[in-house]
Amino acid sequence: MELSHLKDIDRNHIWHPYTSITNPPIIYPVSHAEGVYIHLADGRKLIDGMSSWWCTIHGYNVPQLNEAACKQIDKMSHVMFGGLTHEPAAQLAERLLGLLPMQLNKIFFADSGSIAVEVAMKMAIQFHAAHASSPISEAASAPSRTKFATIRSGYHGDTWHAMSVCDPVNGMHGLFGSSLPVQFFLPQPKSRFGHEFDPHDIEPLKSLLSEHSHEIAALILEPIVQGAGGMYFYSPEYLRAAATLCKEHGVLLIFDEIATGFGRTGRMFALEHAQVVPDIICIGKGLTGGYMTLSATIAQEHVAQGISQSPSPAFMHGPTFMANPLACAVASASIDLLLASPWQDRVHNIAVAMLSHLSTLSNTKGVACIRVLGAIGVVELDEPVDMQRIQPMFVDAGVWIRPFGNLVYIMPAYVITEDELSRLCEALVGVVREYLQN
Ligand code: PMP
Repeated sequence: MELSHLKDIDRNHIWHPYTSITNPPIIYPVSHAEGVYIHLADGRKLIDGMSSWWCTIHGYNVPQLNEAACKQIDKMSHVMFGGLTHEPAAQLAERLLGLLPMQLNKIFFADSGSIAVEVAMKMAIQFHAAHASSPISEAASAPSRTKFATIRSGYHGDTWHAMSVCDPVNGMHGLFGSSLPVQFFLPQPKSRFGHEFDPHDIEPLKSLLSEHSHEIAALILEPIVQGAGGMYFYSPEYLRAAATLCKEHGVLLIFDEIATGFGRTGRMFALEHAQVVPDIICIGKGLTGGYMTLSATIAQEHVAQGISQSPSPAFMHGPTFMANPLACAVASASIDLLLASPWQDRVHNIAVAMLSHLSTLSNTKGVACIRVLGAIGVVELDEPVDMQRIQPMFVDAGVWIRPFGNLVYIMPAYVITEDELSRLCEALVGVVREYLQN
């Protein structure tokens, strides 16, 4: 297809994420991607700092993942999961059971991160609606428990209930207003990761649960790292205290590890920083190495038992592409590849290098804060970034970095080399400096 024709079709007919279709921003056609490089159709080659919204943990066009996809597509790319099952799903389940804390053992394969969150929320509602007696508390189950609690500045997805637990200010509550379910929002914990925990941080949750726990089905959190809501790293102590309180009040704890899972924070799952096992966990993004969309919601036995003891014991969700064999096969290959690699050392080295490069911006006027955790490097600016201005600057500097709000951040693939990472960071630092000077 002629490049100009592609651009015309795109501009006139295709929606992009969070953009106006009538006044679209600049969009760059991509011809292919390889390793940590995105090749633009105009011939330019960019070092990818985004891992395609944090999921291509092994980079692009990975031989082992290509092979898994080709092998599986020759057998079947899809078959319905209602009444049928298959080896790719069982093999992936076996791998996940080996990676997750052993209590998390009932797996629901869904089709995207947002849907995994919807599924977790539905599980929590069905669990409480079931009047089941539960190991977390005899008084735990109550049909009136239909609300959710969360902390501010979170992000859990763009579907309806997922959106309702996103930050009410920087999320989409303003737009969708009263059509969104009303949830309980707690302040973001002030205690940062790696700093001393201030016990005051947990007080709002304590008061909320003592007053409203009878209405609350679950507390949903992104453990340790709040991603799209602000790239904020908070104390594992908060999670430990929250888990204890939830248990006391019969409120389920849901961890959304869609962004943090598969090594991004330096641990396989962020929950390992806190040694807390939630009742339900959501994973996605890096699950398939970013090859295709697949997510999973995994519950503890008592949640599954609770749901099953209701008068209608079925869990009521069943998407068309549930446990898609192609995605499951690639996900298993991605996990094998991750486990066979020195991923912990790689993530550690990425963290060290990012900190050293990004810290050079620390005293720059307009820079509020630099923070790094695992393979996540963040430069927080004082003011929101003008995307129309800064995006072409990054592309001209040979990197793909896509800031949001006042956050310029990178989450490279774990396979990035030292030299590629230096070039990525230098470009980031150079562009931010130039941007802030003008
Ligand atoms: N939860 C978290 C923590 C996320 O970061 C995201 C995606 N950025 C989602 C949920 C939603 O995932 P998806 O975009 O695959 O629906």
